[in-house]
Amino acid sequence: MENLREWHKERMMERTVKALLSNYFDAHFFTDRTSLLESIMYHVYPGMTIGIGGSLSIRGIGLLENLAQIDVEVLDHWKQGLTKEDIDVIRLAQLTCDLFLSSANAITEKGDIVNIDGSGNRVNAMTFGPKKVIIIAGYNKITPDISSALDRIKRIAAPLNAKRLNMPLPCAETGYCHDCKVEARICRITSIIQRRPIGTNISVYLINEELGL
Ligand code: SF4
Repeated sequence: MENLREWHKERMMERTVKALLSNYFDAHFFTDRTSLLESIMYHVYPGMTIGIGGSLSIRGIGLLENLAQIDVEVLDHWKQGLTKEDIDVIRLAQLTCDLFLSSANAITEKGDIVNIDGSGNRVNAMTFGPKKVIIIAGYNKITPDISSALDRIKRIAAPLNAKRLNMPLPCAETGYCHDCKVEARICRITSIIQRRPIGTNISVYLINEELGL
């Protein structure tokens, strides 16, 4: 049974990679974390600036520990002890970094990258500014199409993030989206990247692992 599930996941990831490539993204899928990390680290060189998007997936694969071994400037606005001003400075610097690393809320089998952001720093850095962008996503982020991607975000990712951050939001209480109008709403910007934006260098790395929310 396990082999069957693996087979199914791998075919789904292959399909998604093919669709991403046809939409002019660079795309690969990895069956293990070591080869994923090696492929990311291939793009890292001493002295570069590396922006880290607000992402549990990035932090879940041990990437920050690898980067700590190299002489690079890591722009991580989730670092402990930062003031609001520090966070703003880091988010701005991420927009012009050498390498921006993030996950996505959903990747469709048709090759779309779908996100909903609160402030937009992550989706802005994905589409314009950094010299290179690598988006890392577990198989759990793959959905058939844009409509199911948006559904996934509103039913799973956003309520779980609201709960994780202990936000005063209705979805953090009930576990589902109320399309709220409250001041603290985290769903403010919807970004659907349907083709690699002109002049950008975006790779999507999928891994046969459940990562992030
Ligand atoms: S719109 Fe509001 S209720 Fe719905 S997921 Fe976003 S923050 Fe939660």
